[in-house]
Formats: sequence, C-alpha cells, structure tokens
Amino acid sequence: MSLDKNADILSNLECPICTEYMLTSIYICSRGHSICSKCKSNLQKCPTCSVVLGSTRNYALESLVSQLKYPCAFAHQGCKETLSPTDLRMHERNCPDRIRECPFCREDSVWTGHIADLQVHLLERHKSSILMTNTKRRLKTNFLPDGPMKYFLYDNDHKAMFHLLQTYDDERGIIGYYVRYLGDKERAKNFKFTLSICSKSERSRNITITEFCHDEVVSFDDIIQSGIYIGLLKSVLCSYSDGYCILSISARSEK
Ligand SMILES: [Zn+2]
Ligand SMILES: [Zn+2]
Ligand SMILES: [Zn+2]
Ligand SMILES: [Zn+2]
Repeated sequence: MSLDKNADILSNLECPICTEYMLTSIYICSRGHSICSKCKSNLQKCPTCSVVLGSTRNYALESLVSQLKYPCAFAHQGCKETLSPTDLRMHERNCPDRIRECPFCREDSVWTGHIADLQVHLLERHKSSILMTNTKRRLKTNFLPDGPMKYFLYDNDHKAMFHLLQTYDDERGIIGYYVRYLGDKERAKNFKFTLSICSKSERSRNITITEFCHDEVVSFDDIIQSGIYIGLLKSVLCSYSDGYCILSISARSEK
C-alpha cells in the first residue's frame, strides 16, 4: 500500500475519545461508531451517539487495522519508524526518541523531554550528580553508603550518557553496581565500565572489575538475574573505607 493511502486510512482510525490509534480490539456501538478497547472499558455509553455500549467488536476493522503500518507515537520527536500494531507498542517502550523523565529530579517536579535535551538539563540542574568519566575522576569514599545511590555519567570520548546505580542487598550484605547506557538500546551493547577500588594506606591493595553496561529498559530483576553487575560484600568494601575509587567507561568493541 502506498504511504499516502496508508496515512489517509490512518486518519480515520483514531479513537474519538483518546485520539490514539485503535490497534487491537475495536468495539462498535449499535449505530456503527467505533471506539478503542481502553476507552470502552471506562464507558457505559457511546461517546458519539450515547446508545448503551455492548461488547460488539468491529472485526472487519480489526482485520484491516492489523495490515496497516502506524507511525511511532514519538514521530514528532524525530522517530521515523512505521510499524504493524503488534510491533508498535513494543517499539514505543524502547523508542530512542521517546519522552524520558529525568532520574534526578524531585518527584513533584520531574523534567521530561527528548534525550538530546536531557544532557543539557542534567548539566544545568544536577551538577552534583554528574561524573565526567573521561577525566577518570576519583570518587570520594562516600561511594560506600548503605542505601541506594545514583550518578549520571557523561563520557566525553564517546559522547555518551550513562547512569550508575548502587543497590544494597541487606539480607546478603552485598552492594551492587551497574551502569545503564542512556540512549539507543542497540548501542548500549558496545559499552563496558570498569570500577577500581583502591586502598590509600596499602598501595598494592585494590579491586578492579570490568562489566558490560545495560540498556535503559531492561528491568532491575533481569539485571540481577543476568549476573551482569558488580556485586561486592559490604564487609570487603568497608575495608577500603580509607580509599577511593575510579570509574571509567570504554567501548566493548570497535564496531
Ligand atoms: Zn480511545
Ligand atoms: Zn454510537
Ligand atoms: Zn519510535
Ligand atoms: Zn532533573
């Protein structure tokens, strides 16, 4: 189907209530008005003609809809993908152009926007949470708190942004570190991070571990399950409490 024709048809497939595309289950009133399944679940009456809504589906339309390609919801942010209904929602969850929330803002006033603007926001508003990894800056000894911790990393060599998170498993006494790459899911696979923990008093004593970075969308549970994070006993870390640590990011392979 030509793109123009596709766009023409799409313009008739917006739900009259939420104006999103009707993608999977499409309901229809006894007078022929269609509505998406999400809105249908909140309504007793047809929003167009007010007759009571039953559970009649518009199967002909559903079948047509499944053969069309839909623009990503973040097309206005620059995404050029067009996908089938089954792939669309999955893509939108991972879309590199999606609207993001700043992970460092207070909950009552969270900044949202495109990833390209996130960096500017972070540099302006959250200087204290930023580590420039290309300078291999030493982290102070407060890298050993009990609670969760997060840092924004900006790597100038790769012009890439990362998010370092520390977690604490109270039960097992394990402190975990993992790094998420903020950006395209595929590109995330190219990065690894190295954490070195060094003792100041005993110069030859140190721990250095390199681990792969994760993307932004993989869940915390999946990260722990994968074992791809740095997990250290708190008692071991505490023996370095007079020391410092160095964090660096590098490309996993030259692709
Ligand atoms: Zn709707
Ligand atoms: Zn109606
Ligand atoms: Zn997209
Ligand atoms: Zn913020």
